[in-house]
Amino acid sequence: MTEPGAGSDTAAIQTTAVLDTETNEWVLNGEKIFITGGQRSMEESDGLVVVWATVDRTAGRAGMKPFVVEAGTAGAHIDKVENKLGIRASDTATLILDNCRIPYENILGSPEVRRVDSGDTAGFRRAMATFDMTRPIIAAMALGVGRASLDFVREVLEKEGIPIRYGLPRHKLTAIERDVMEMEAAYKAALMLMLRATWMMSQFQPNSLEASMAKAKAGIVVARITQKAVEMMGPLGYSRKYLLEKWMRDGKINDIFEGTGQINMLIVARRILDYTREDLK
Ligand SMILES: Cc1cc2nc3c(=O)[nH]c(=O)nc-3n(C[C@H](O)[C@H](O)[C@H](O)COP(=O)(O)OP(=O)(O)OC[C@H]3O[C@@H](n4cnc5c(N)ncnc54)[C@H](O)[C@@H]3O)c2cc1C
Repeated sequence: MTEPGAGSDTAAIQTTAVLDTETNEWVLNGEKIFITGGQRSMEESDGLVVVWATVDRTAGRAGMKPFVVEAGTAGAHIDKVENKLGIRASDTATLILDNCRIPYENILGSPEVRRVDSGDTAGFRRAMATFDMTRPIIAAMALGVGRASLDFVREVLEKEGIPIRYGLPRHKLTAIERDVMEMEAAYKAALMLMLRATWMMSQFQPNSLEASMAKAKAGIVVARITQKAVEMMGPLGYSRKYLLEKWMRDGKINDIFEGTGQINMLIVARRILDYTREDLK
């Protein structure tokens, strides 16, 4: 979805898809940036990417449609691969679409543009529905990293003979015990939100609110847990000998992609307060 001029503001995408009625092909033009696994999909395998483009710029959100672009398609090429802070095992690429022709069937869903005067449209709603599926998964990914960091901390503390004494009043706990318990509580709160959003998804229940809650919370929690874990472990945490420093770098992405923390909190606020996009931007 993301383009140089469209990230958080997904409705601003400029990539176009024009139907060539003579050949019955879609002709795509535009630039997509920060595509997770873009190089793996387009250059290193017989994969594909799903590209959102507009079939009618004058229709705004209503014109947004998803298209499948397969590896090896003429006019589609990877231009750049990002050098990143974290998730370095996953490539993040720029895809240029230059008169890229794809078969008519490669549109996902209907090409019909249904204009409405206000509010969301079918095209945009489908784009957002994609996020309802992916955000709980991103939350789960964040929590995996958080869990690993917590396990590492507990293992080291155990080895050093530092027990975590559950059930004591807060003022009788050591600072380390309080830190570990706070990390665990944050982890569990995010875990419950993620499980709820994922369960609702599996039951085909509307889960936009829950998906954004889970994603926003997990993004914050993983950053806090991994940073605290590095801090508590000192040089062990900072050293490349262990994975903790990597988890801290990897964890941060969960607060950025699939809607940043701020954007997901905006969605939560809108839904809880019953505000429209125009009311709360
Ligand atoms: C490693 C990586 C992989 C990615 N993979 C993909 C991918 O596969 N597909 C894809 O489509 N995109 C992908 N992205 C892009 C990612 O989803 C966007 O970068 C992200 O949504 C933020 O959009 P932006 O870059 O336009 O930032 P901006 O929108 O410019 O955000 C910059 C800052 O402003 C804040 N902000 C923006 N608007 C508001 C607002 N209204 N209120 C409060 N704060 C606001 C944001 O929260 C953020 O802190 C990836 C990004 C990265 C870094």
